[in-house]
Amino acid sequence: MIAQSISMMHEETLRRIDLGGVLKDCQIWWLPAGAPTSEPRAIHCTLSGRMVVAGHTVHLQVSLPTEFPRCLPEIEVLEMFPPVGELPHLSAQGQGKVCFPQDANLLDADEPYAIVLDALAFTRNLLERMLPDSKRASEFAREAFVYWGQMAQRGVECVVTLGEHPAPIWVLSKGDELRAVVDDVAEYVASRAPGGMEGLESKFALYLPLGAERVASGFHPRELATLDGLRKHVRALPEEDRIRLSLLLGHVQGTELFVVVGLRRPQEERALLGLRIFDIQGGHPLEDVQALARIEPVLLRRRDHSFLAPRGGAGKGLRSRRVLLAGCGAVGGYIAFSLARAGIGGISLVDPDLLALENTYRHVCGLSWAGISKVVGLQWEIERAIPYVSVNAYRGRFERLLDSNASLLLENDLVISAMGHPTMDLDLNKRVWSDTKHPPVIFTWLEPLGVGGHALLTHRSKPDGFPRGCLKCLYSRPVEGGAIQNRAAFASPDAVYTRDTLGCGSRYLPFADLDAQRTAELATRLALRALRGEVSDAPLLSWRGERKPFEDEGFSVTELFSKALDPFGYIREDCPICSGK
Ligand SMILES: [Zn+2]
Repeated sequence: MIAQSISMMHEETLRRIDLGGVLKDCQIWWLPAGAPTSEPRAIHCTLSGRMVVAGHTVHLQVSLPTEFPRCLPEIEVLEMFPPVGELPHLSAQGQGKVCFPQDANLLDADEPYAIVLDALAFTRNLLERMLPDSKRASEFAREAFVYWGQMAQRGVECVVTLGEHPAPIWVLSKGDELRAVVDDVAEYVASRAPGGMEGLESKFALYLPLGAERVASGFHPRELATLDGLRKHVRALPEEDRIRLSLLLGHVQGTELFVVVGLRRPQEERALLGLRIFDIQGGHPLEDVQALARIEPVLLRRRDHSFLAPRGGAGKGLRSRRVLLAGCGAVGGYIAFSLARAGIGGISLVDPDLLALENTYRHVCGLSWAGISKVVGLQWEIERAIPYVSVNAYRGRFERLLDSNASLLLENDLVISAMGHPTMDLDLNKRVWSDTKHPPVIFTWLEPLGVGGHALLTHRSKPDGFPRGCLKCLYSRPVEGGAIQNRAAFASPDAVYTRDTLGCGSRYLPFADLDAQRTAELATRLALRALRGEVSDAPLLSWRGERKPFEDEGFSVTELFSKALDPFGYIREDCPICSGK
């Protein structure tokens, strides 16, 4: 749309508002000719008018930015009569622009007039809700973090537990630069990728839970950045907390104290606000009325697990769970990352191989760490990207590791094998079924050329009797004395699928990265359900790919490929491992 027609449409929209009667005494103002119009938020024209809300005459201004109607109009409260104090959700000091919720992003650009009407209706509704005094204080408390962010000149990472009582915490700094405020220095340093943590100085700091509702109405977050305001809130603390605070203040050294205020919010988690109290003189300003100090509001960037994990859909309960993952190739690499992102607290990686250049396109590490062992490369990648997961790397063959460290199985809540090596998987299956204390195991593997993938869960350690079904059930010997075959296979067993480009020892199974991801997702979802105790039986889950490209390569699928899949159809009555015979 050319600038001319945009401004005509804007003017037309505002004229309809005038005629529509939502606002009284309307006036339309034009920006001076030649004003810049290339900026997306530049304003062409504005309309001012009045509406009456809850007994107040409100003087509003509606502005249409150049981007309108692909964005909301700007609505500003110019004045109110009778006047009221500051209102929440109006930006800037005093009265100001209406803050629209961020989810108001579906606009029907064909109906610009309706967009403005909706925005005015929202404004009226907001003012009706915010005009009562009592509502205002709790709304300011609810929005405290936003107001604090507007006052703060700098921010710092924060890993502090939201407690109900004053508590000692630590502020980490390097020279004048604040790095973090934490309640466990060792845990914080461990949750950071290595490097950058050297030379940090840690100093006593204070966690101070406050409740705006304990103080008379008229609360505004700004008052917490003043000594009088802080003291008012401290005086309103319960007796027990004031005694505790007094004891803690005895630990303050020097003329500076970092305080994390945990401000209670109605029906929600506390808001964390940082304050650097400095130039302290003549007692401690939190308890002593004569004491002097200055206050710097600091924005706290929360980095604690209970804040970060739920945003990624990670379960809080999974942080204490440990998973042993054997095989860190294409499928295993994705599983390791997905487990970490799901909030699993401990992952042990086992694999003997190095990250190879030729697998760049099908390993989660890509080109990073080529030539480094898979377990170490993956450990670094995970620790670099995701906090609060401890990753152990064991370079070596899984069966040898189990031979030398018999308790390894017992130390984990779940074992996943993505080795893609039937002989070693059968060995693991036998080993796990040898002791009822062993954790459940998921075997997962990929078929060639995207024809499918599988994940099988087996457990020996069910308190109420173990469910039948194990990896051994899958293998049968169709011909007496012949080779054993996997009965879950979609790819016909009588073909060679591995390819060889560089000679002996460099054979590989052709599959695409997406096939590996799909298999990893299947296995990880099953793993999370198992860890949450949601699966008590032993299902074999499979995905089927496309048949045609597979057959175009000259291969054929098994009968099973065209049949309905039964997750328990694989269980064999005469299985030498899980039938108990
Ligand atoms: Zn079995």
